[in-house]
Amino acid sequence: MMEISTKSRTLLKVIFLGDSGVGKTSLMNQYVYKKFSEQYKATIGADFVTKELQIDDKVVTLQIWDTAGQERFQSLGAAFYRGADCCILIYDVNVQKSFESLQNWHEEFIKQADPINPETFPFIVIGNKIDMEGEHGRAVSERKAREWCASRENIPYFETSAKLNYNIDEAFLCIANLALDNQGQQQT
Ligand code: GDP
Ligand code: MG
Repeated sequence: MMEISTKSRTLLKVIFLGDSGVGKTSLMNQYVYKKFSEQYKATIGADFVTKELQIDDKVVTLQIWDTAGQERFQSLGAAFYRGADCCILIYDVNVQKSFESLQNWHEEFIKQADPINPETFPFIVIGNKIDMEGEHGRAVSERKAREWCASRENIPYFETSAKLNYNIDEAFLCIANLALDNQGQQQT
């Protein structure tokens, strides 16, 4: 959809959706800058960062869009969604409410981004903060999360820790591959 210059260079727009506080900014910072901060800072300025990936013979530039906290009001604006090639839905495995919100975020994405084929559009779901298990264990089991994904066109599921840099590269590689496949299909 957003292919630039030569055939072997591809730009993919990745957007993160999920409740405030689930770790969207932290995951992005860990993935792109290898940094993590315990402090909660409301993200300033809805903008994107880029990260290059090599996939087979292709250089893929991921343009990753973060929010400035507007997700609290589900008012991310048209520019945020426009031209998205893939979408990461994220929740906090310790917060039940953030898991229940996935449904809203999924619907909101389909409504706002209006992809040509919502059934095959590349989504992944991330359960973050798996390092944090409290004394009562986590709030959402992996089984529950996988069931939800299975009932939504089999969305791939990853569990991550932005704090420990666990499973983040794998999740981004998966979404990049899905988005590449999807672009290929749209061109034929
Ligand atoms: P956002 O509102 O979705 O962008 O969430 P943030 O990335 O700002 O994270 C909210 C809070 O959760 C911050 O205090 C982070 O330090 C913390 N946090 C994010 N990811 C993790 C994680 O994987 N493990 C732990 N223990 N804390 C995390
Ligand atoms: Mg943020």
